[in-house]
Amino acid sequence: MTGDVKPDLFKPVINSISKFICVTIYSLVNYNIGLMIGQYYPLEIIEKGQVTEKIRLGKTNVMVTRVGFGGIPIQRPMEDEAVAIVKRCLKLGINYFDTANSYTTSEERIGKAIKNQRENVILATKSASRNHIELTNNLQFSLKRLGVDYIDLYQFHGVNDFKSLDVILEPGGPMSVVVEAKAKGLVKHIGITSHQIDVAKKAVATNQFETIMFPFNFIASEAKEELIPLCRKHDVGFIAMKPLAGGLVDNATIAIKYILQFPDIITIPGIEKITEVEEIIKITEGPLKMTQTEELEMSYIRETVGSHFCHRCDYCQPCSMDIPISAVMTGKSFYKRLPQERFFSTFFGTAIEKAANCCDCGECEKRCPYHLPIREMMKEQVAWYRDLIKNNKRLSS
Ligand code: SF4
Ligand code: SF4
Repeated sequence: MTGDVKPDLFKPVINSISKFICVTIYSLVNYNIGLMIGQYYPLEIIEKGQVTEKIRLGKTNVMVTRVGFGGIPIQRPMEDEAVAIVKRCLKLGINYFDTANSYTTSEERIGKAIKNQRENVILATKSASRNHIELTNNLQFSLKRLGVDYIDLYQFHGVNDFKSLDVILEPGGPMSVVVEAKAKGLVKHIGITSHQIDVAKKAVATNQFETIMFPFNFIASEAKEELIPLCRKHDVGFIAMKPLAGGLVDNATIAIKYILQFPDIITIPGIEKITEVEEIIKITEGPLKMTQTEELEMSYIRETVGSHFCHRCDYCQPCSMDIPISAVMTGKSFYKRLPQERFFSTFFGTAIEKAANCCDCGECEKRCPYHLPIREMMKEQVAWYRDLIKNNKRLSS
């Protein structure tokens, strides 16, 4: 018994000494040597800039860092770099990693980075399938690509209309696949993602989902009116997607500070570079209170850029010319986040081309609850896309 007690007594002392050595070397001598030495200690070496605050993610009871990792942009860099980015996030203390079956290489890259670290990571992935067999296959595929025995949070991806929600929940439907996987221990918790506020509220109220992911940032903050309070009532974990408004906001400090004002939600900024994660971690170190200048900048961005943020809710549909309006509106934002070849091979290009057929009827604008100047914005996207194609041809010729 005495032998068991001793290490516990000494652990805090050894921890403090090793932390002191590492931090001293880190600050005075060399950052990398400090890290190297830190790796030899199986103790809680705190690296400067670590995200230490974790919160309970609703009824999952899982403790997650306030800032997680959004896995769309790591499709862009080379694999080695992508793996290094995820490892850096882990090293800096981020424990929540979100990806999706549809994010091509993202799952595999995260899987490589978290090898031998499974117990330190909360893994969330998703599938947009509403089909029993396809969903079963997607789930197996995700497990394989991530190289894990279980997924912490499996989410129904992009549930933006009531019909899809009904299909997911119908007896013997997609929900039963995930419930079965949960019973087998392949999935620990079940969540949903949506861009449509009414569908999101209905989903939360069903009590069938333990988390919801929804767009939330200082430009698109409608979730704070009813959806977030509803999540609190039903103890559903709220995950804020698009903290930087899908790339519309350049000032990460304001964007992250805004989200961190809400103590019971987490966010998952998409991360493409090591410098980005380091910048975000620095922001989380505080001070978190907005300065007066930041408040002013936030208002300015809200008034200017904010009037052009598409929520991808599809309230504007149907379009008589069959134009996938939300895909057109978010084309430029996806261009920044997807690998170029993927952007051109997916529906964004076709969607933007289709936008040229707009007959100017204006029906979509009457239906958009955010009063976006859809026609004007689509024209801008078409012009931008044509320039992009022209420049790409020029570069490749
Ligand atoms: S204005 Fe254009 S995009 Fe909007 S509904 Fe009419 S045709 Fe469709
Ligand atoms: S244009 Fe308006 S209604 Fe259509 S998807 Fe965007 S925000 Fe929603």
